[in-house]
Amino acid sequence: MNLAGLTELHRHLDVSVRLSTLLELAQARGLVPQSTSLEGFRADFILREPMSDLGSVLAKFTLYQQVLDRYEVVERAAFEAAEDAYREGIRVIEFRFSPGFVCELSKMPWLEALDGFHDGLKRAMTVYPDLKAGLICIGSRDFGMGSIEKTIEFFLRERDRFVGFDLAGDEAAYPNHLYRQAIKPVIASGAKITIHAGEAAGPDSVWAAIEDLGAIRIGHGIRSIEDPKLMEYLCEKRILLEMCPTSNRITSAWPDYSTHPFRRCFEAGVPVCLNTDDPSIFGNTLADEIRIARDRMGLSDDAIQKSFDTARAHSFLA
Ligand SMILES: [Zn+2]
Repeated sequence: MNLAGLTELHRHLDVSVRLSTLLELAQARGLVPQSTSLEGFRADFILREPMSDLGSVLAKFTLYQQVLDRYEVVERAAFEAAEDAYREGIRVIEFRFSPGFVCELSKMPWLEALDGFHDGLKRAMTVYPDLKAGLICIGSRDFGMGSIEKTIEFFLRERDRFVGFDLAGDEAAYPNHLYRQAIKPVIASGAKITIHAGEAAGPDSVWAAIEDLGAIRIGHGIRSIEDPKLMEYLCEKRILLEMCPTSNRITSAWPDYSTHPFRRCFEAGVPVCLNTDDPSIFGNTLADEIRIARDRMGLSDDAIQKSFDTARAHSFLA
C-alpha cells in the first residue's frame, strides 16, 4: 500500500509534542530528572495498555500543560508535530487544541499559544510546501460553561487562523445538548464544526452533536453503531466519524480491535477515517492505525485507501 499523501483529521496538537522535545523541555524546567534517558522516558511515559490508574494518566497530560509555556516553545512544538506528520506520509493534517487546557497551568495568554501554534504550522508548510496543515479550536466541557463561552469568543475573534471548532472533554457528565445556546454564534458564522461524541456516551450524544451543535463531523462516534437509525442518518447526510482505534483501546472506550466499529461502519457505508488522537502519549503513528485496520480488523488495502479518500473529501482545509 502506498502510504504517501495521507490525511489525518483528528490529532491533538498539544499531545503531539515530539517525545525528545518533551523530555528536553521537562528537564529544563526541573520536572524530570536530568539523568533520565530518552529510552527510559519513553518506556515510562507512553501508554501502551488500557488505563487503570487515572491519576497517573492525568499527570502525563499535566506535563504538556507545564512545558508549553511560551511562544518559542509552542511554535517549535507545532513545527515538529507537523514535520513528524509529514514524515509519516501525511500531506493533509488538521491539528486541534483547547486554549483553555493548554494555558491552564502556565497561564500563557491564549493569543500567545495560538500565535505559536499557528506560526509553527506555517513554518512547516514553508519547509514542506506540499503539506497542508490547519488548526481546530476546542472548547473544553470540563472547564465549565464560562470557559466554553470564552473559547467561542476567542474562536470568532481569531476565526481566520482556525479551520473549525470542536468540543471535547467529558461528554457523559456534560452532555452536548447543554451547549445548544452557546454554540449558536459559531453556527451562525458558518464555521465548520466537529464534536467529540459517542466515545464515552451513547448515540444520543452523537444525535445532539449533529442536531443541537451543528456538527458535520464527529470525533470518535464509535457508539453510533448502537443505533441503526443514526447509522442510516450518518450515511445519508455524509457525516464523517473520525475514528481513533488505538486511543479507544487505551482509554477503554472500546475493548478490542476485532470488534471495533470502524469496520462495521465502513461496510455500512458510513464515512469513517483513521486517526491517532494523542500520538505523543499513545506512541502511535498513522501507519500503526493502518496496520491495525488491516491486520486486526481485516480491512483490505482498497478499503483503507477509500477511508483516506473519504478523510480528504471531509477535510476542513479548503
Ligand atoms: Zn480527540
